Amino acid sequence: MTNEVYQWGHRRRFNSYTEHIRKTFGGRMQKVVVDAGFTCPNRDGTKGVGGCTYCNNDAFNPSYCNPVEPLHSQIAKGISFHLVRYRKASKYLVYFQPYSNTYASLPRLKELYEEALDYPNVAGLVIGTRPDCVDKGILEYLRQLSKRVYIQIEYGIESCFDKTLERINRQHNFDLSKQVIHQTHNLGIKTGAHFIFGLPGESEEEMLSYVELISGLPLDSVKFHQLQIVQGTRMEQEFNEKPDDFFQFTLEGYISFIVKFLERLNPSVVIERFSGEIPPRFMASSDINAAGNVGVQNPRMQPPSWGLIRYDAVLRLIEKELERQNTWQGKFYM
Ligand code: SF4
Repeated sequence: MTNEVYQWGHRRRFNSYTEHIRKTFGGRMQKVVVDAGFTCPNRDGTKGVGGCTYCNNDAFNPSYCNPVEPLHSQIAKGISFHLVRYRKASKYLVYFQPYSNTYASLPRLKELYEEALDYPNVAGLVIGTRPDCVDKGILEYLRQLSKRVYIQIEYGIESCFDKTLERINRQHNFDLSKQVIHQTHNLGIKTGAHFIFGLPGESEEEMLSYVELISGLPLDSVKFHQLQIVQGTRMEQEFNEKPDDFFQFTLEGYISFIVKFLERLNPSVVIERFSGEIPPRFMASSDINAAGNVGVQNPRMQPPSWGLIRYDAVLRLIEKELERQNTWQGKFYM
């Protein structure tokens, strides 16, 4: 930690979401994930079938989420789940996370969002969705709602390159993402975006070039994930067939990449995550093997596993490296 207070109002070397939320709400806020039983147009045949090649939502869904349970019961379970790990938060944000959480009729969305907001001490919603799953009516409703409670939309953008979006079967292009981000921001709704580093066919230089595109977008917050190959996905098969098409970050390489990325990133963008973690049981088998278990077959077919390192540890390594290099988010942003 430095003595300098950066333009985001604290001493951490990046514009941290945790600090941002603390400042916004004046205290601790816990996100509670719910599964409202949505699907996605890239799975039900409207846009495509089979989904994005890396997708297996079960890998990202906490164990306490079950779409057959009413939202209030999922929220209650989520709160108890977090209580075991963290001290009690005074307020909660309900996070509609799995699949595309604006993919339903407006009356149905209103019913679900209002039900979540009805739970005691829920201060707002975070809604994960695809850029092609919102329209004027939905955004206008969310704009109205955002006057009353905290509303953040989190768009899965994943890559800034159309060649990649096509390869991973996203069924939308980057232009659409840009348009929708502008539209959402112009309505005064908090706008977040999610990106994946390490998608097939992208070099490290190409990934680094995202930074200018992201910095130029009116985004309030971003989440970054390294590519994690999930068991049973089409991407697992693709990786096994063409491992050389994947830029595989070692943990050290990823930290150094993130530091370079941060130095060029617009300092006004709040960063929610730098990497992802999926439960080991969902990792592609070659990845688990590389984590030190038995059964390694062909070393060329393995991503260089980061082992079972947790997110907090990755974050500490990034902050340590920022400190070591005496650098910070936006140092070279122009
Ligand atoms: S848009 Fe999301 S839910 Fe739909 S297939 Fe892609 S990753 Fe899965």
